[in-house]
Amino acid sequence: MYRSRFMPKFFIKTYGCQMNERDSEQVAHSLIAHGYERVGCESDADVILLNTCSVRDMADQKALGKMGMLGRIAKERPDVVFGFLGCMAQARGASLLKEIPHLDLVIGTQKFHRVADYVQEAVEKKRYRRMDDPRFSIVDVEEELGSQSTIRDQPLAPKPATAFVSIMQGCNMHCTFCIVPRTRGAERSRTIDEIVAEVRALVGQGVKEVTLLGQIVNLYGRHEFEKRDGKSPFVQLLEAVGAIDGLERLRFTSPHPVGFRDDLVAALASLPKLTEHVHLPLQSGSDQILKAMHRTYTAEKYLNLIAKIRTARPGIAITTDIIVGFPGETDVDYQLTREVVEEVQFDNAFIFRYSRRSETPAAEMPDQLNELVKEQRNQDLLELINASARRANEKLVGTKAEILCEGPSKTNTARLMGRTRTNKVVVFEANEDQIGQIFDVAIERANGFSLYGTPAN
Ligand code: SF4
Repeated sequence: MYRSRFMPKFFIKTYGCQMNERDSEQVAHSLIAHGYERVGCESDADVILLNTCSVRDMADQKALGKMGMLGRIAKERPDVVFGFLGCMAQARGASLLKEIPHLDLVIGTQKFHRVADYVQEAVEKKRYRRMDDPRFSIVDVEEELGSQSTIRDQPLAPKPATAFVSIMQGCNMHCTFCIVPRTRGAERSRTIDEIVAEVRALVGQGVKEVTLLGQIVNLYGRHEFEKRDGKSPFVQLLEAVGAIDGLERLRFTSPHPVGFRDDLVAALASLPKLTEHVHLPLQSGSDQILKAMHRTYTAEKYLNLIAKIRTARPGIAITTDIIVGFPGETDVDYQLTREVVEEVQFDNAFIFRYSRRSETPAAEMPDQLNELVKEQRNQDLLELINASARRANEKLVGTKAEILCEGPSKTNTARLMGRTRTNKVVVFEANEDQIGQIFDVAIERANGFSLYGTPAN
């Protein structure tokens, strides 16, 4: 039995992407619903959960290092519960228990909705541990049919006006550098009705902007739902969500260039709530490397797609992901990536140095590059991207931009920040009662990746 007078405190830390952030919020919400209190510091917590991304080796290593360091808390307070959730838990399973002796829970990506029950069981067992159960642990990384429908966006402290909504889980694309298909499983999509109902409820709570999330968001529903009038399930979903009264802005991330078909390009032109921003991962500008990555498009197809998108929505911002130093990437391959970057003039990009992920095909490929070459290419590309990002921002100086005010600026809490429809951060002075509102800001200055201005009435 659970002792009702004990109100456990939990701490949850996320390593990784927006999907992980959203999953953590879902877990936090269900723990609070079970009577737990959230704390901001692990030393105050009775339950410490790390939700981990496994896509980048860095996040993986950081999370392992962090959990290792928490061993000192385990020594001082043996009844504290420690758990790994998410992609890394999924990928490594029970082997984590051997690496980290104080670990109690290993819960995979299809089991977020069960975390509260497992935590409760662990708290109960550890706090009131029976003598015949000296070492307790729960590992659950099984697949679960229908788990995509448990993905509900239930933010604890929602930003007043923006929300993320997961529309699908998993990925069948099998890029050779990526562990997601293994950690998140096969593609599974929620129904349009379910998603529309969720967005409607969020709008009812004051949300004005929704970002639809999926690993390959534009391929939403391709296994479950039919095309209608030549429109993919994803475009049908965009239309249905776009029709919700009170929703002002609609975003989605991240699409795959494959499957970004003419119906979606046309939707950019015809659906006014879709914002002027597309994040379209390029990964490489070399066809040879794209093939080795199992990205089934060419640089030319990518460039043609960018041209179509820009024609459909003039002024649209384009951002991307690029990996440098993939196995076998020659100087010539890298130059081809540079050329695509020069040609597109991205508004921003995430550049990653390739890092070996065990259990991915690329980890076993010959011609792994040394770190120095990767670092040089990374720095070089970063300079190129920073220059185009700066140019894109400077173009906005002297114009008015519509922003959705999200709250205090992270760097200076005396000021507020918001995002333009093109997803650029603008910092300005205004009253707090403008948080959650949409209004124009006169852009006066661009500095690095932020814009500065004054609300224009
Ligand atoms: S599309 Fe490729 S990179 Fe993206 S999640 Fe799927 S396998 Fe990973």
